[in-house]
Amino acid sequence: MNLAALLNSLRCSLLHIESRLLWAAGIESQLVPALAVNGSSPLPFIDEQQQKDGQWLERPPGVLDSILWMAAPKKRRTIEVNRTRRRAEPKLVKVKLNIEPCPECGHLKQKHILCGFCYAKVCKETARIRNQIQAMEGGPLGAPSVETVVVYADEKPSEADQGKRIVEMPRKRPSWFGH
Ligand SMILES: [Zn+2]
Repeated sequence: MNLAALLNSLRCSLLHIESRLLWAAGIESQLVPALAVNGSSPLPFIDEQQQKDGQWLERPPGVLDSILWMAAPKKRRTIEVNRTRRRAEPKLVKVKLNIEPCPECGHLKQKHILCGFCYAKVCKETARIRNQIQAMEGGPLGAPSVETVVVYADEKPSEADQGKRIVEMPRKRPSWFGH
């Protein structure tokens, strides 16, 4: 509803009140205005037949529509209401009861989940081995298609490792790194 339709509905309601007052006073005849001025109407003209058809409701929406009828909260919510909503039971962090110490390093971890500290150790050692392979062979394209054996310092490749790809690491074998 734009401003013109609002004024038109206001005018219609005033005319309706006037007719009801005239009917209550017993004056049935239509009153003639005391002063008639020939000129353009100050109110926007809306054809009554067109209004009955409801065509004026289908106009493109004006600028005032979004300003006059925008949805807005009527009351400010208090901080107690907001905090009650934010700290409701389903929004709180759940208590985990499936936590146990890692059998390898002793850090706390969830059951049936890989220990993050042990995984980080393995990642670091894997990066060292890859750097050593990079230094030995100069790139990933020179890798031979045989089994790879990692040999740490103060270790000797065994008889069974003959003919395999041997990566020699210049450090001692970590205690958790199996053979
Ligand atoms: Zn661990």
